[in-house]
Amino acid sequence: MASVPYGSEGTRSLLQKHHFVTKKQLGQNFLIDTRVLDGIVEAVNPSDRTVVLEVGPGAGALTTHLAKRAKRVIAIEKDESLRPVLSDALTSATNVDVVFEDCLKVDLVQLVTPYLDEGDELVFAANLPYYITTPILFAVLESGLPVKRAVVMVQREVADRMAAKPGGKDYGVLSVSVQYRARVNRLFIVPPSAFVPQPGVDSAVVLLDCANPPDARVKDEAVFFRIVRAAFATRRKTLLNALAGALSIPKDVCAARIEASGIDPSARAETLSISQFSKLAEQF
Ligand code: SAM
Repeated sequence: MASVPYGSEGTRSLLQKHHFVTKKQLGQNFLIDTRVLDGIVEAVNPSDRTVVLEVGPGAGALTTHLAKRAKRVIAIEKDESLRPVLSDALTSATNVDVVFEDCLKVDLVQLVTPYLDEGDELVFAANLPYYITTPILFAVLESGLPVKRAVVMVQREVADRMAAKPGGKDYGVLSVSVQYRARVNRLFIVPPSAFVPQPGVDSAVVLLDCANPPDARVKDEAVFFRIVRAAFATRRKTLLNALAGALSIPKDVCAARIEASGIDPSARAETLSISQFSKLAEQF
């Protein structure tokens, strides 16, 4: 059977054929714009040595595009009722494995590692469900899998926060957490008209280069992230007041530690670079 011709009519008619009603609570906004699909595949840049992990294949639009160029696509979908839609969409794709699981509950290393042969690269690609974007992203980035790069569609304002530099209102825990693990590159904006049903906001495709994270490595990541969260929890306060309060440390001790890391205790969290946060974490 011929593969479904994607583009707006392909996805729509596939959903109609299977009487599939999209579920808002699962973030089901399916991509129907072939230029956007092509743009994502271009960023993933798969070769015959690329294994792609996709979360949320939905009706299979991105999955089929990726499968044309990748060695293999492993797709994790939570919604079991998409089974007939996906098996129809993927009839002629022999290099796709769909796993019906909640990606936050599955052991990603156990699932993916058997597919990786020596010399293969692993890339994460997803049009992420917006209600759960960051938990899924961090479940993958912190799984221990050797993800070389990630190409994800997220809400535009989330993309702005991911890519934000110190000094602005968008810079916060998400910016530091993502940029600690990867170099962030916002690729393009995607309007609501690229989806069915249409979301209420613009989206953006982001490339995360995980093979080349910034140089600031820390010995104890748990302490690093605790400091980052504490510093931003009350972002209008000075670093000294924010950390002393959140960590229940006497102010004079806290001030001495901040100074020992070469930072002014009256600075605000939003002005600190990742390497300053890592120096700070070393003192705690
Ligand atoms: N990739 C498709 C596309 O671009 O058209 C669908 C993307 S849609 C925004 C998000 C998909 O993620 C939906 O198919 C939804 O059912 C699935 N999903 C939501 N939560 C999930 C979870 N926890 N684990 C796996 N898939 C999930």
